[in-house]
Amino acid sequence: MITLNGNIIPVKEANGKDAAHNPEKLLKLNGAEATDESKIKAISHYFRQIMLMLGLDMEDDSLKGTPDRVAKMYVQEIFRGMNPANKPAVTLFENKYHYNKMLVVKDITVYSCCEHHFLPIMGKAHVAYFSSGKVIGLSKVNRLVQYYCQRPQVQERLTEQIAQALQKALHTEDVAVIIEATHLCVAARGIRDIASTTRTSHYSGKFQNNAIKKELLSWLK
Ligand SMILES: [Zn+2]
Repeated sequence: MITLNGNIIPVKEANGKDAAHNPEKLLKLNGAEATDESKIKAISHYFRQIMLMLGLDMEDDSLKGTPDRVAKMYVQEIFRGMNPANKPAVTLFENKYHYNKMLVVKDITVYSCCEHHFLPIMGKAHVAYFSSGKVIGLSKVNRLVQYYCQRPQVQERLTEQIAQALQKALHTEDVAVIIEATHLCVAARGIRDIASTTRTSHYSGKFQNNAIKKELLSWLK
């Protein structure tokens, strides 16, 4: 039984097989909604156990602070997107200029984490849409991408989650998302291939039209 300061930490697991799709179903600590602070405390405790099991000397000055550092990094940075409160608010503007062509945001930095090995996924996302009469602040596109990256992910789901969030935010089906990424679990272990990249895409609405898809891909060359 695992204890923290002498108290057993009851961790209620998130319900459902696809909790990663619904981080709204957050785990509960001590029966209450987990706060960032309580999550950091618990993760630090468990990470220390992992380090001990690996045979590390946790009295060593250099290692002592690692469990806390890792826990803070998980909750506040790398897995920030597991907390729905961190979802960026999207403000829409009237499309005053009646710009009705394709809008492309290219080379958005993707820094995510593979849910199978907890190793980094790094690459680029390209996002395109046709305005439904509303436009989004450009940096909001990057922030939305970042929000869904900051979860344990598989690239296919990441692509779909970004596309769905954009469709909802922009009130349009006319959305495309392309992600090209390197998975460190492929590069640093297993097959140890440092050259291969993985490409995933989502095309909906007008982007299912071949000529439009071709126009987008020519932009991305
Ligand atoms: Zn992996």
